Amino acid sequence: MELVEESTYRFRIDRHDPMRVPGVVFASGSLLPDAGADKSLEQVANVATLPGIVGASYAMPDVHWGYGFPIGGVAATDVETGGVVSPGGVGFDISCGVRLLTADLDRAELRPRLDALMDGLGDATPRGMGKGAVWHLPDGAELDGVLRGGSRYAVERGYGVQRDLDRCEDYGAVDDANPAQVSERAVERGARQVGSLGSGNHFLEVQAVEEVYDEAVATAFGLRAGQVCVMIHCGSRGLGHQICTDYVREMEKAMPGYGIHVPDRQLACAPVSSHEGRAYLGAMAAAANYARANRQLLAHAARQVFERVTGRGLDLVYDISHNLAKIETHQVDGAARRLCVHRKGATRALPPGHDDLPDDLREVGQPVLIPGSMGTGSYVLTGVPGAPAWASTCHGAGRVQSRKQATKAERGHDPRRELEAQDIAVRGASRRGLAEEMPAAYKDITAVVAAAEGAGLCRRVARLVPLGVVKG
Ligand code: 5GP
Ligand code: MN
Ligand code: MN
Repeated sequence: MELVEESTYRFRIDRHDPMRVPGVVFASGSLLPDAGADKSLEQVANVATLPGIVGASYAMPDVHWGYGFPIGGVAATDVETGGVVSPGGVGFDISCGVRLLTADLDRAELRPRLDALMDGLGDATPRGMGKGAVWHLPDGAELDGVLRGGSRYAVERGYGVQRDLDRCEDYGAVDDANPAQVSERAVERGARQVGSLGSGNHFLEVQAVEEVYDEAVATAFGLRAGQVCVMIHCGSRGLGHQICTDYVREMEKAMPGYGIHVPDRQLACAPVSSHEGRAYLGAMAAAANYARANRQLLAHAARQVFERVTGRGLDLVYDISHNLAKIETHQVDGAARRLCVHRKGATRALPPGHDDLPDDLREVGQPVLIPGSMGTGSYVLTGVPGAPAWASTCHGAGRVQSRKQATKAERGHDPRRELEAQDIAVRGASRRGLAEEMPAAYKDITAVVAAAEGAGLCRRVARLVPLGVVKG
C-alpha cells in the first residue's frame, strides 16, 4: 500500500480503481501499522470503494486490523444519493464506549481505603463470559424499555440522576431504535446481561488525574489534578454481537439486488434508505441504547460502593460511544449534506459551540475519553473547530499484538504481580485475560494522543493514571 506523506501526522493513499475517494491516515511515521502483520491500510482503501462515500476513508492514529473496516476507521456516506450503511463499519460491539466519573476525593485520601474500594467494586461489577448482570430481564417488556430508552430508562427506574443524562451523548438514548428489527436470538442473548462488563478489553478502572493541560476546560469538565475518577468501558454484549452477525448475513444476500460490489465480503452493506439499511439502523440504535443502559447500571453499582467505602459520590463527566453509525449533517464541498458517519473504534469529538453539546459544555467542546491501558494511562481530550474526519478522533491506543501474541509475550511472567508492583490493584480476569491486555499489547497511548492532536483532530485536557482495575 503506497502512502504519500502529506505532513508529519497525515498520510494519503491516492485514489485508484475501484476507490471512489482517497484514503487519509492520521498517524506519525512510527505509529503506522506494520504492513506485514496488519492489513488495516488495505482495509482503509477497501472502505474507499463503498457507494456514496464522501471526503475520504479515514484512519485514526490507533488504527489496526478489524472485521472489514479497520478499527480506528471513519467513513461517511451521502444518505440522499444512495450512500450505504455497513454493519462492519460499526463493529460487533455496537456502541461500545467509555464513561468517566469523578469523585470529590484526592488520591492521597483514597490510599488507605483503595483495597476495600477495589474489593467492593470487584464484587459489584458483573463480568466475564458468565451470565451475571445488574438486571435480569426475562420479561420482554422491560428489555423493550432498555432498547428504546437507554440510560434514560435506567434513570427512570432509579439507577442514576437527571444530571447523568445531560452528560451522555444523545442525552442517554438514540432516537429511532426499532426493537422489532432485533432478532429473537439477539434478545435472548441480551436479556440476562444488562449491567455487565463482559470480558477481555472491557474494564472498570479507578484512576487519578495525573496532569492537567488545560485548566479552564478541565474545570468545565469537572476535573482537577490529583482527583480520583472511575472509567467504565463496555458495550452491548451478546445483543450487539448478534445484531451485527444477523445484518452482515442479510446485507450479503441483499447486495447483488442493489448492484453493489465490494472487494471484501466483510464490507457487506446496503443503501441507508433501503429496507435492509433502515432495518439495520433501527436494530443498531436499539443496541446502542442497550450499551448506554449497560454503562448507566454499572456506574450506579460503582456509585453505591464508592459511597459506602469513601462516603463520596460520583459525578459523570461524559459518556461516549466509539462504535456507531450516525446520521449527521456536515458541510461537503460548501453544501450541508446528510451523512451516515461510521465510527468504528473512533470517537466523536464535537468542537466548542456545537449545538449537540449541553449548555455547560458548549463553550469548551465535547469531552473525548481515550483509554490507553491498565498499566499506563488514559487521556481526556476535547474537540477542536474545523477538524477533518467529520469531528472524529481515536478511541484508544490500539492493539499491536494479537491476543495470542500478547499471551506468548507474557509467558513466564505474572501479569498480576507486574501490575501490583506498579501499585495498580487488580480484580477479576484470569491470568490469560490479563496477559492479553498488558500494556505491551497496545501502542503507546501518549504517542497516539500526540498524533491525534498534531493532526488537528482534538486537543489534550488531562492525563489519568490507573490506581486499580476490575477487568472483564
Ligand atoms: P476497544 O474498544 O478497541 O476494545 O478498546 C479501546 C482501547 O481501550 C484499547 O485500544 C486500549 O488502548 C484501551 N484499553 C484496553 N484495556 C484497557 C484497560 O484495562 N485500561 C485502560 N485504561 N485502557 C484499556
Ligand atoms: Mn467493546
Ligand atoms: Mn470499546
